[in-house]
Amino acid sequence: MIQRLALLGATGSIGDSTVEVVRHHPGRLAISTIGALGRNPEALLALAREFRPQLIAVVDPKVARDIRPALPPGVEIAAGPEALVAAATHPAVDKVVAAIVGAAGLPPVAAALAAGKSVALANKESLVVAGRLLTDLAHANGVEIVPIDSEHVALHQALRCGTRTEVRRLVLTASGGPFLHRDPATFASIGREEALRHPTWSMGAKISIDSATLVNKGLELIEASHLFGVPPEAIDVVIHPRSLVHSMVEFRDGSWMAQLSVNDMIFPIQYALAYPERWPNEFPRLALAELGTLEFLPLDNRRFPAVQMARAALAAGESAPAVLNAANEVAVHAFLDGRIGYTDILAIISDVLESHRPEGVADLEAALEWDRWGRERAAGALSKRSR
Ligand code: NAD
Ligand code: MG
Repeated sequence: MIQRLALLGATGSIGDSTVEVVRHHPGRLAISTIGALGRNPEALLALAREFRPQLIAVVDPKVARDIRPALPPGVEIAAGPEALVAAATHPAVDKVVAAIVGAAGLPPVAAALAAGKSVALANKESLVVAGRLLTDLAHANGVEIVPIDSEHVALHQALRCGTRTEVRRLVLTASGGPFLHRDPATFASIGREEALRHPTWSMGAKISIDSATLVNKGLELIEASHLFGVPPEAIDVVIHPRSLVHSMVEFRDGSWMAQLSVNDMIFPIQYALAYPERWPNEFPRLALAELGTLEFLPLDNRRFPAVQMARAALAAGESAPAVLNAANEVAVHAFLDGRIGYTDILAIISDVLESHRPEGVADLEAALEWDRWGRERAAGALSKRSR
């Protein structure tokens, strides 16, 4: 049976890799709906011509008006947040690939789960902002959230080797990013281009900066805790510069299960789309004998405090991760725009979290409200640091 996908974030880095996986499996996968910001109309038109989706959802109404006349027959285009939700919940969709970047991806993910669609999730920010809500929604509607994030795909596979009571801890691997060995005294002078230059992965701008600050690993710790129902104390981070071991599970008898593959997102994406099956493919493989050594190092929390900040936010209460995420999104955008320096990113997150009194998050509205609150506070903290 062909699985029909909603591809949200179709024009991004994960979107591109998902398209590659779909092309590789024409008898297994099709794209029924597409969602994107709309900054790249040419890419949307090319996707429309190749896959003939029933609906394209964009954020900007002007983009929808501009490209409508050029669309092939049968392809509709709509704009606005409701359009993204419509793409996620469309009757012609079996599974949603959530690859929008940031908290903007949360409403369509929540809507997809509520409509009984399984979600292949790259958009980790939605789990950080509303983890318990999303896992509750999935449970209540009998559907699954299968990760696309490579570390979580590794854990998902390793966890199939034992029961939950047999698990001692989850260990997330982190490449350490471009500044693993740089003198922290010089962090303040780090510029946009060097921060974007990730040593092992090619990704969108926001997650590339998150990988440099290691905020990404903090978000992933929160993501793992929600996805696998494991408390933060039982999740560790280890530095593994080559990003070939994607993460590991330690069982109570001292056995470790690690997962390896080439560091290309097509592997975790295919896993998430095939699960619970496992499909053959012709993608280039790891040549183990040519790998040489695999290095593991402890995480230096003084150099990279972001993981500890995320751990503390998760322990503090449900609204704190949402606020951390919002502050980070605002700060990363400001850094990418050249409005603040590199070290201001963590300083702003820390300022905003210090002024926050954590509360429970009862529903989607509350989660989005905390997201707004975090953004406003971050904008205030930012104006004090802008250069
Ligand atoms: P990207 O910037 O390359 O692409 C983002 C996509 O989201 C684009 O299609 C864009 O049009 C769309 N988008 C952005 N803002 C939107 C909005 N407000 N409404 C609707 N669509 C919007 O980002 P990416 O690197 O592909 O990352 C996407 C998500 O996947 C992020 O959550 C990231 O953390 C996660 N992820 C990415 C990688 C990777 O290798 N790139 C790996 C693991 C997880
Ligand atoms: Mg990851």
